[in-house]
Amino acid sequence: MTISNSISIDKVISELKLVLDKKNNILTEYEERFCYAYDATAIGEKLYLPDVVVLPENTEQVAQIMKIANKYKIPVITRGAGTNLCGGCIPLKSGIVLHTSKLNKIISIDKDNLTCVAEAGVVVEKLQQEVEKLGLFYPPDPSNLKVSTIGGSVALSSSGPRCFKYGGTKDYVLGLEVVTAKGKIINIGGNTVKNVTGYNLSQLFVGSEGTLGIVTRVTLKLIPLPESKQVLLVFFDSIDDAATAVTDIISHKITPSTLDLMDQKTMDTVEQFHPTGLPTHYDAALVIEIDGIADTIFVQAKQIEEICYKNNAKDVRIAKDKKEADEIWFARRSAFGAVARMKPNVITEDAVVPRNKIPQMVKAIRKTADKYNLNVCTMGHAGDGNLHPNFSLDLRDHEEHERLEKAIEELFDAAIELGGTLSGEHGIGMSKAKFMNKVASNEVLEYMKLIKNSFDPDDILNPGKILIK
Ligand SMILES: Cc1cc2nc3c(=O)[nH]c(=O)nc-3n(C[C@H](O)[C@H](O)[C@H](O)COP(=O)(O)OP(=O)(O)OC[C@H]3O[C@@H](n4cnc5c(N)ncnc54)[C@H](O)[C@@H]3O)c2cc1C
Repeated sequence: MTISNSISIDKVISELKLVLDKKNNILTEYEERFCYAYDATAIGEKLYLPDVVVLPENTEQVAQIMKIANKYKIPVITRGAGTNLCGGCIPLKSGIVLHTSKLNKIISIDKDNLTCVAEAGVVVEKLQQEVEKLGLFYPPDPSNLKVSTIGGSVALSSSGPRCFKYGGTKDYVLGLEVVTAKGKIINIGGNTVKNVTGYNLSQLFVGSEGTLGIVTRVTLKLIPLPESKQVLLVFFDSIDDAATAVTDIISHKITPSTLDLMDQKTMDTVEQFHPTGLPTHYDAALVIEIDGIADTIFVQAKQIEEICYKNNAKDVRIAKDKKEADEIWFARRSAFGAVARMKPNVITEDAVVPRNKIPQMVKAIRKTADKYNLNVCTMGHAGDGNLHPNFSLDLRDHEEHERLEKAIEELFDAAIELGGTLSGEHGIGMSKAKFMNKVASNEVLEYMKLIKNSFDPDDILNPGKILIK
């Protein structure tokens, strides 16, 4: 067995074994490595197999692993839950996959200063549950928060439905412990909410997709848990009306935590997957959540109801209880899974446009899907102008795959034309690296390459992602 640069992998593995003392913290069998050749991205038939998978239990081990990787100039691909949708964890040049699932401790929750420290592999929902027990709140909520990790969220700058009111992961990162390409442990940022001390390196790492260093610990800002919340599900005969209602709600100085959108095909697919009585004949639905002081919630819900009807809503459902609210959220959160049942593969895109351009972008998605005869269900975060068209297809059908590639490029051209960009929250990874020159000038790309080179001169950290060399 050899690794990409012809060094004997046996030698590397024997050195890694000295660092990772437990047998099940290093995986070398073909079947084991095969599982790490994929993430949640549908990438087609080509197999990118890692040479070895390591599961370190502490930062010191991560540093030792990086020292070995640096000595032999072997790629290291960090992996949290592997749920990204941009091929971020695919080992394009083989090498070591470093899985963070055993870096899973919540180190501290500071109730007085509203901060917490967690290891990179802590699952987002677990952290949220722990801080909520103390009346605190960590708002970023990628829809798959039951499995996705804090490290993955930081590396992708993930957001989620609540981003409209509370912002995304980047707004909560105060400081990071990072292992560099050469195996040094560095601490950047800090643990104070205010911090203007030199270059903002911790924010540089947010969204860096494992290409600049390995995040091992994260210090996060928390906020007080809102006292109460309410969910509304609103149906429209036209997606334009839904989008106008969103703008109208905001112009009335109401700030819901969530303003999410599902189109007719999405509702139809979700209802087939898990029937909850979701009507399937409306063109669009908004999932609106409001939170805050209990006394204000009912008033806001009524105001939103009124605004929606004024904008031609056909039906406004205000969840009567937690069960109904959970059902609405289940429908929204299971949309990806529901679409995934239709055909062998789903490609989820992540175009973002200025909020008032949502109707044009939805039209562009529908027109492009029709032009290339593709099946698409569109959902997204209307309040943030962030749309997720989900294409279901069979990537083994090369002709269909080619049509999809053309459609995706046209969709991004449309988003850019409308003043938007390539990704609102899913990142660039391997999937969209080829489009980076559509949104960044040569000069900007050169600065990005300079940053990459200064942290990782030998290109061993997640090579082939974000930037094409
Ligand atoms: C059904 C579904 C719903 C989703 N919903 C949302 C959503 O609402 N909002 C949203 O923003 N995203 C969403 N995503 C995308 C993605 O799952 C999230 O962004 C998630 O936060 C990624 O976490 P992860 O642990 O799975 O990261 P991974 O997929 O394991 O890794 C993501 C990237 O980060 C790097 N990385 C991981 N850990 C580290 C680390 N410790 N140090 C350095 N680099 C690291 C990896 O190399 C990779 O490039 C969704 C995905 C799915 C499948």
